[in-house]
Amino acid sequence: GTRKRPLPKPKWMKETVPGGAKYAAIKAKLRELKLHTVCEEARCPNLGECWSGGETGTATATIMILGDTCTRGCRFCNVKTSRTPPPPDPDEPSNVAQAIASWGLEYIVITSVDRDDLPDQGSGHFAETVQKLKALKPEMLIEALVPDFRGDPSCVEKVATSGLHVFAHNIETVEELQRSVRDYRANFKQSIDVLKMAKEYAPPGTLTKTSIMLGCGETPDQVISTMEKVWDAGVDVITFGQYMRPSKRHMPVSEYVTPEAFEKYRALGVEMGFRYVASGPMVRSSYKAGEFYIKAMIE
Ligand code: SF4
Ligand code: SF4
Repeated sequence: GTRKRPLPKPKWMKETVPGGAKYAAIKAKLRELKLHTVCEEARCPNLGECWSGGETGTATATIMILGDTCTRGCRFCNVKTSRTPPPPDPDEPSNVAQAIASWGLEYIVITSVDRDDLPDQGSGHFAETVQKLKALKPEMLIEALVPDFRGDPSCVEKVATSGLHVFAHNIETVEELQRSVRDYRANFKQSIDVLKMAKEYAPPGTLTKTSIMLGCGETPDQVISTMEKVWDAGVDVITFGQYMRPSKRHMPVSEYVTPEAFEKYRALGVEMGFRYVASGPMVRSSYKAGEFYIKAMIE
């Protein structure tokens, strides 16, 4: 066959330079705490915006628990994989909670690799981390961005009732591309069911949230019908970002979606009734999550 060249990066995919007094303070404190963030490790271009807290002064960061090795292998993802990752560190929930509580942020996204090897899929570890953090700093806003837990209701319930503010689980792509983008153990129905269950189990006022990467080969009609199914599942928040290929071993980018197209999906999402929609080429699911959360809850 013919060798396809990678698509050139368009000019709107540029990085922003971190800045601001709050950003500097948070960064200095982080070194002292020896906490590892996804923001820094993934060299996220939104770091300056997220850590400075924006108009509402709600600084956001993302941390990963349950280790750095995933039991799955999605075609877009750069995380290390193994069928038998090392066991979780039993002290992690306390240590992470203490570090986050003393860090000086307002909103934390706690995420993890998938742990199909653990009897409870890691859900207990997640819930414990949220509970310990809440006990130390009750005013902290907490989002858990969780795996599908293989659709196990008891795992979803444990996390949804742990005291978090936002239960997030990413469907990653449109319904039609699930099989070619995600690990074979993931699927659209299972992920939608997880989001539905979370809404049922969580106390009233808890938001549910999901994210889609664009540029994987989806059509606009597929995006819209997927949004409708997400809305029907009672999901409150949806975000759209551009898929970026981590290396040549990963799935290629099919398309760089234009800022105008991202804006159309944002406007459509707002019109459909989502509490907030973040949509843009540089958006990650945790992009300015604290600032958006506060604005959505004031309305
Ligand atoms: Fe961190 Fe997410 Fe913001 Fe990137 S978008 S800086 S990973 S919180
Ligand atoms: Fe990456 Fe999550 Fe897929 Fe694991 S389950 S390979 S961490 S996207």
